[in-house]
Amino acid sequence: MSTNLIDSTTLFLEGNTEFYVPKNSLTQIPPPRTPVFFNTMAKFKRDLLISIFNSHASQSGHKLTFSDTLSGVGATGIRLANESEYVKKIYFNDANINASELLQTSITHNNLDSTTEVSINEAHKFLSNFTNRDVRFDFIDLDPFGSPIQYVDSAVRALKINGVLSLTATDGAVLCGVYPKVCLRKYGSLSLNTEYFNETALRILIFSLASISSHYELGIKPLFCHTDKHYIQAYVQITDSISDTENRIGFIGHCSTCQNRVISELPILSCNLCSSNNKIAGPLWIGDIFDKSFLNIAINNTDDSNLVKLYRNAISESSLPPLYYVTDTISQNLKISSFPVETILSKLKENNFLSSKTILHSTGFRTDANVEEINSILSKTSTSNI
Ligand SMILES: [Zn+2]
Repeated sequence: MSTNLIDSTTLFLEGNTEFYVPKNSLTQIPPPRTPVFFNTMAKFKRDLLISIFNSHASQSGHKLTFSDTLSGVGATGIRLANESEYVKKIYFNDANINASELLQTSITHNNLDSTTEVSINEAHKFLSNFTNRDVRFDFIDLDPFGSPIQYVDSAVRALKINGVLSLTATDGAVLCGVYPKVCLRKYGSLSLNTEYFNETALRILIFSLASISSHYELGIKPLFCHTDKHYIQAYVQITDSISDTENRIGFIGHCSTCQNRVISELPILSCNLCSSNNKIAGPLWIGDIFDKSFLNIAINNTDDSNLVKLYRNAISESSLPPLYYVTDTISQNLKISSFPVETILSKLKENNFLSSKTILHSTGFRTDANVEEINSILSKTSTSNI
């Protein structure tokens, strides 16, 4: 490593692994892109990826290859190589020579030379070296600045059948409905700014992957999704069955008057409760976004109580309808005091509706009750409390 780079970096511990990071990435918010980008705040995201990787390997029954496609300092791949028992080989790639120097030093520090390989390349060129069937990856991580969509075609071509693609998008304003026309241009889908904005964003991201995969007659199967205020992330398996995608692409119809929402294969233009015009989002993924059986495997493959809680909550909501509600929004619309989400869930249960919290919003919930039924139950609850 060059003297200048040595002087500007330091060893950093995350999980059970030490690796080298730029000193300025530990003090500046947001962390700078030079000499190499590294975000300490993304630890949970890396914990999650390692857990999903281990679970997929456990399900597959063999060790896996992994592409850290836009590796930066290589935090994800270094941690995987050091902490997972399921690694066959980690391939790091970054076009920034500082990144490759830094992560090579981290590889040596952890004695990981035999299970890692480093390349300095533009991401498309790197992935194009792995399109032959015998060298394709088991697991590819795409975590660029902004949208991952420009790399998805190359990633699909470099992924084995039944391999997993981790997609992270940080262009939330586009996917969540602030810039719907930009979303239409980039993702081929109109976004919509609603209370369940991040679910719409996830469904658009997954739709874009499904659309690109279908060019190759490949299907997709979402395993798990996660969002926070900085990113939207989907873990999706690529399958050899295009039927996994059929009947799972459609539209959202959202009524701004009564807050009714529907998801359907063809756009529903007017509200079936109050007959107002619906706002439309899509096309987008209308199938499941959580795979219950995979998440049960994930629970059995981690000791991390935060991840177990997250997976259990996702299982709980996995069988309920798309498009969650937010307690505060409903209370504002009804002009009543807000209820804890637990109160709403118990009232829905008393009235024989299914319901669950959602991992996509801290005060959100899913239910098979429609908005009129929810409003009726909460209005009665509010009156009885006075
Ligand atoms: Zn309506």
